[in-house]
Amino acid sequence: MVRDPILLTPGPTPVPPEIRQVMARPIPHHRTPEFQAILKEVGAGLKTVFRTQQDVLIFTSSGTGAMEAAVVNLLSPGETALVIQGGKFGERWAEICRAYRISVVEFNPPWGKPLDLESVKQETTKNPSIKAVFSTLCETSTGVVFDIKGLRAAIGPKPLLVVDAISGLGADPFDMDGWGVDVTVSGSQKGLMLPPGLAFIALSARAWEQVDRSTSGRYYLDLRLAREAWKETDTPFTPAISLIIGLAESLKIIQKKGLDQVLANNRNLAESVRKTIKGLGLELYTDPACSSNGVTSVKVPAGVDGKELLKRLRKEEGIVLAGGQGKELAGKIFRIATMGAIGPEEIRVGLAALEKVLSSMGWKAVLHG
Ligand SMILES: *Cc1c(COP(=O)(O)O)cnc(C)c1O
Repeated sequence: MVRDPILLTPGPTPVPPEIRQVMARPIPHHRTPEFQAILKEVGAGLKTVFRTQQDVLIFTSSGTGAMEAAVVNLLSPGETALVIQGGKFGERWAEICRAYRISVVEFNPPWGKPLDLESVKQETTKNPSIKAVFSTLCETSTGVVFDIKGLRAAIGPKPLLVVDAISGLGADPFDMDGWGVDVTVSGSQKGLMLPPGLAFIALSARAWEQVDRSTSGRYYLDLRLAREAWKETDTPFTPAISLIIGLAESLKIIQKKGLDQVLANNRNLAESVRKTIKGLGLELYTDPACSSNGVTSVKVPAGVDGKELLKRLRKEEGIVLAGGQGKELAGKIFRIATMGAIGPEEIRVGLAALEKVLSSMGWKAVLHG
């Protein structure tokens, strides 16, 4: 392969050259007016992308660090959480809660399908002890985008609503304040076009009250430290300076296009992927009623070895797709991302390579309909 591999994966996603360039410059010290100006700038930009008036705090960790921060800062051992699963990342919420001895009520929507809000409502009514509901905007393992606005209506105003928007942010529509979300977490390596290493978290006023009440043990992930430091435009520990400098550039790119335009581009690109996939005679895994703009899951056709397919795409064509995750989906689906800096040209090259490798593996398009 002469060119670099093209990542069509839902994290990490390709990092545009203008972002790589700013990150390669000599780094400033983090406790200087120069770096504080950058922190101020990214703080404002993140609020726009989260659609919130609240401060968005920055952690040096992968996205899961912010998920764990949400759990330990909101809930105390013995308290009850409702966890919407429906995929690997929904299950991660439950795993983190159990690690901190939070009592978990599982809600298990069928994978790849929309959320049955009426059943969620019944579950919430049945368990008045539920203090927080954990969900996912885009369940990256299946390509489902959950109806978060509808979820708030279903659970009523009382429980805190915590949303993992790690892959959904900047790809699928999201409105933290408008939809009544109490806590949003995200990460750098998906729609924000950065390398992995930064995580973000924003909390509503009433979620902050819980942070002061939680008796869970915490140190690095203590949001009270982050809140205090942020008042001085600072972070409690050394931040990933280069990544934050890259973030300023990424937010500029998003701002220049406009967030609505970015979301519309992702939607159009995802729709064109789904159309081409169906045109090739392949079958989509995810119900089109709830398909994310950021990732499309495709069933590995009968007679094709899913792992071999991805390996050959990588080795022979320099195209990196994601496989299925977990026992349920490993080898059964592959996933194509349409988030961040992935554009029509990358998708065109990727889909052509897919068709080529599939044919060379003996697969013949069976056109439906
Ligand atoms: C990528 C992803 C995560 C995990 O993020 P890490 O950065 O690997 O910790 C969590 N949730 C969702 C929905 C994701 O897509």
